[in-house]
Amino acid sequence: MKQGKGECCGCGVCALACPHGAVVMTPDSEGFAYARVDRARCTGCGLCQAVCPMGEQPAPGCENRFFAAQAKDDALRFSSSSGGVFPVLAREVLARGGVVFGAAIGPDGAVRHREVQGLEGLAALQKTKYVQSSLDGCVEAAKRYADSGRLVLFTGTPCQCDAVRRYVGGSENLILADLVCYGVPSPMVWEKYIKELEKTYRGRFSGFSFRDKRAKDNGHTVAAYIDGQETAWPMGHDPFCRAFSRSHSLRPSCYECRFCTPDRESDLTMGDFWGIEKVYPEMDDGMGTSLVIIHSGKGAALWEAVQGQLHCAECQREDTLQPRLRTPTLHPGISRAWFWRLCRVLPLRITEKILRK
Ligand SMILES: Cc1cc2nc3c(=O)[nH]c(=O)nc-3n(C[C@H](O)[C@H](O)[C@H](O)COP(=O)(O)OP(=O)(O)OC[C@H]3O[C@@H](n4cnc5c(N)ncnc54)[C@H](O)[C@@H]3O)c2cc1C
Ligand code: SF4
Ligand code: SF4
Ligand code: SF4
Repeated sequence: MKQGKGECCGCGVCALACPHGAVVMTPDSEGFAYARVDRARCTGCGLCQAVCPMGEQPAPGCENRFFAAQAKDDALRFSSSSGGVFPVLAREVLARGGVVFGAAIGPDGAVRHREVQGLEGLAALQKTKYVQSSLDGCVEAAKRYADSGRLVLFTGTPCQCDAVRRYVGGSENLILADLVCYGVPSPMVWEKYIKELEKTYRGRFSGFSFRDKRAKDNGHTVAAYIDGQETAWPMGHDPFCRAFSRSHSLRPSCYECRFCTPDRESDLTMGDFWGIEKVYPEMDDGMGTSLVIIHSGKGAALWEAVQGQLHCAECQREDTLQPRLRTPTLHPGISRAWFWRLCRVLPLRITEKILRK
């Protein structure tokens, strides 16, 4: 059982695996959930450690292939964060009678994983939500479907996907598509920001897009919906996104992340192809290009099956090594402590303004 804050990503699979109900997930004062062990119930069997994704390092040097890709369907690409690879893969899995898992913003604004079994539910899973998503029963459901012979596509942060891999065990029916990952902000800060938006715009929160592409700026615009009314502004002006990009609101484990490498044990990895203008300038139209890294035979088979729906070009490993495929996000030092002190009493906009000075 991992005990330090930097060693726990909050996936909760240890609590699912414990046969004695000795692990409870409890949020700390920053709103991040941590595993706590009831020593009186624990028998020391070690099952929780076997499923923990923060365990041993992945085997180095797995056979990766690297691609730049864009969905041919412009509507799919527009409604996604990068090149729209996720909805293309998800549609293929749904067409085969499979189930897709991913993160969605609920009516209350909370970000949670959910399962989707038909095209109508897919839009909610599209687009990046820069908030830690709660797995909410999805790990057990993914195992049930995979064990019963149903094809499952599970998408999420690398630590979430690795937790699912370990909990489900080897299954031919489970395809894991993880992300290049900068880190996840606190759900508590997100909840606070929703309240601030509701106060500013005098209404009820009804949605948020972290990666709006109307400005053809590769999704560096955000759009908030209050009572269905839309207001959009550049991502750089958004205080929640600033706290994210300046790494103030991230989970402590993200500064020590072991998944900042292209060598993963998932089946494939999806990300933004930052630097596409240098590698394939003809693909750089401001509407987003995906980076895809194929790790396994299962990942390669699914990738092969969707080639007709993508503009796709293979590239070299060194063309794609953006910072989050090399090292974890740098801890911002003392300004993180100041962020937490200030944001408990001040609006995020003012907190970020003070920290900028
Ligand atoms: C917190 C976070 C940080 C990221 N950091 C980077 C980065 O530093 N560099 C980079 O290249 N790419 C990063 N990405 C990935 C990138 O933003 C896109 O999500 C990815 O390229 C897929 O885009 P798409 O166009 O193929 O699909 P889209 O249609 O945009 O699909 C989004 C996918 O992301 C999943 N997802 C969305 N929000 C969450 C969440 N909160 N938790 C878990 N899964 C989620 C959905 O389930 C879906 O599979 C990050 C994503 C997240 C969620
Ligand atoms: S060691 Fe076994 S009993 Fe103890 S918390 Fe872990 S899984 Fe539960
Ligand atoms: S990382 Fe997940 S499995 Fe490991 S201790 Fe934390 S909640 Fe439990
Ligand atoms: S940065 Fe690492 S620890 Fe943090 S959410 Fe992403 S994969 Fe998990």
